[in-house]
This record gives sequence, structure tokens and C-alpha cells, in this order.
Amino acid sequence: MTVRTRPDLETLPGYQPGRTIPGAIKLASNEVSLGPLPSVRGVIAEAAAGVNRYPDMGVTALVDRLAAKLDVPGSRLAVGCGSVALCQQLVQALCGPQDAVLFPWRSFEAYPIVTQIAGAQAIKVPLTADHALDLDAMLAAITPNTRLVFVCTPNNPTGTTLRREELERFLDAVPQGPLVVLDEAYKEFITDTDVPDGVDLARTRGNVAVLRTFSKAYGLAGLRIGYCYAPEEVAETLRKVCVPFSVNLVAQAAAIASLDAEDELMQRCQMISAERERVRAELLAMGYEVPETQANFVWLPLAERTPVFNAHCLEHKLVVRAFGEEGARVTISTAEENDLFLAAARSFPQG
Ligand SMILES: *Cc1c(COP(=O)(O)O)cnc(C)c1O
Repeated sequence: MTVRTRPDLETLPGYQPGRTIPGAIKLASNEVSLGPLPSVRGVIAEAAAGVNRYPDMGVTALVDRLAAKLDVPGSRLAVGCGSVALCQQLVQALCGPQDAVLFPWRSFEAYPIVTQIAGAQAIKVPLTADHALDLDAMLAAITPNTRLVFVCTPNNPTGTTLRREELERFLDAVPQGPLVVLDEAYKEFITDTDVPDGVDLARTRGNVAVLRTFSKAYGLAGLRIGYCYAPEEVAETLRKVCVPFSVNLVAQAAAIASLDAEDELMQRCQMISAERERVRAELLAMGYEVPETQANFVWLPLAERTPVFNAHCLEHKLVVRAFGEEGARVTISTAEENDLFLAAARSFPQG
């Protein structure tokens, strides 16, 4: 007798191992390329000595620290095994099989996957011709069954970012019912002062949550830790559906150490943001279309030329992230590595 897995999961994408090229520069996952700060590394080593014990399931020390930093009640915070886990917990917490999750597309790859795993319906709203979120179309696509609306800003992979007026107008117009989740994975790279702070927007709204992560600016992608600021009942349910002990002990300690070293880490982010502007300007000068970006990556909407561009980059020992025949996302790294990418982009035949 053979066992049967859920037939509706057959179309889920399986893991595609990335091509490993010895000596290649990885610009594919929006990580920071510099390793952890010595102070953080020390805390990680110290915490590692205690891994015979289970982690604090309440993540108390970090929650207290974040609550103080953000000036929010800890009861409105949930910490997860990366913010991608929190995306999944949000769907689990809010959606049954008849319910829908609305998100822009293309956007963060996890949204359709976690929706499908939960057996909920996905409503994908295409981006505008300028590769930005189409807030009017998203509003129009909300149905009575819509429980969750993911708003990724800056948007992964296009980099486009919502400004205060348009985002507030959208939040004010969303009907009663769904929770709007502002995914701010790249918040620390934002330099435009007209981009609002999601936590400030969520403070006074009963239907808005914010996702943040230690994977990007804080440089802890390999440790898996992120958090969600949400209305109290939502935060409580997120904590209930969390896989027990999945926020590991080393990650909890490293996140606190990274908050201790925040000034130094934010200086790195400023360097990356400045590099982003330089790289984008150079690409524009070469004739590439590059949407305005506030994240630590640029998007090249190369359409059917994407696979050739990807191959060209690989020949130059650069691993970028190609999305089918849509475009390529390239992480901004150190000036040196960015220059290597720019050289490859320059030698790619245009047109
Ligand atoms: C990278 C990223 C995350 C964070 O993922 P983690 O699970 O915290 O590593 C969340 N949302 C978006 C849009 C991202 O690009």
C-alpha cells in the first residue's frame, strides 16, 4: 500500500540547488557580503557553548529589547525562524481553505508558496509598467474572503518603494476584514525620507502588521530570525502556531548583539545604499532600464534576454538571481564586487 501526499501540493516548486562555481561572487540573495562584526561573532561563539539546552521559547530577552527600541508593547511582537516563517504563520493564523491571500506579483517568492501550503487561495495583482506595486488594483482585488494582504516595500525583486501619501491612502481605503502586512525586509537601506516607517503606521491601525528581519541589514541570514509587529490577537496567534523552539538560541543571542552593534551595522547599510545609487547610475548610463530602488539590490527587467544575461554573469563568475524571462536581481555588495558586476554588465551586448 502506498501513502498519498496532498495532491494540491504537487505543483509546489522543489528546491533547486544553486550552481556552485568555485571562486564566484554571490550577488543572488541580498545578503550583506561582509561577515558578522567581531562583537557579534564573539556572542555567537559563547551562545554555541550552550546549545545542549533548549532555547527560550518566549524569546523574552529579545522581545523586551525590541519592545523598548520600537516603543511598543511586547505583547504585539512575535519572533520567528526568519520572517519567511512568520509569513507562513500569518497565513496559518488567519486563513482557512476558503480564504484568500492577496499580494503583488512579482514579489517575494515565499508569498505564493506559503499560501499554497495552507490551502488558501492566492490573488496575484500584477505590478505597474514601472515595476511598482499597483495599489489601486490591489484595493480593487480585495474580496470578502481576503484575509491577508502582503505589501512588500521595498518590493523584492524590483526594489520599488511606497511613499507616505500613497501608502496611507491605501491603508485608509482597505475595507474591514483583511490584515495588511507591510514586509519591510529592506527597511534599513531606505534613504528617501518620504518613505514612512511601517511600525508608526501600524501603531494606530488595528488591521496593519509589519515584518522585519535580521537576515539582511543585520547580517544574520544564516541564523534565521525575524519578527512581526501586529495587533495583539494576531501576535498572540502567531506565537501559538510557531513551530516550538524554532527560534534557536544562537540566533536569539546574535540578534541582541546585533542590536547592540546597530550603529556600526547601520554604517555598513549607508555604504551599501550609496553604492546602490552609484551602481544604478552607471547601469542607466550604459542604457539599462533600472527601476528606482531603496533596497540593497537592483532589478534589471531584461525580459527574454534574462537567461543570456544570467549566463554572461556566470561566465564572469558572478551569481545573480534570474527570474525566468522577467529580469535579474543583483545584490549590491562592496565597491570592489560591484565594480566587477558593472564590468560584466558593460561587456554584455546591448539591444
Ligand atoms: C529576505 C526577505 C525576507 C526575510 O527572510 P528571512 O526569512 O527573515 O531570512 C522577508 N521578506 C522579503 C521580501 C525578503 O526579501
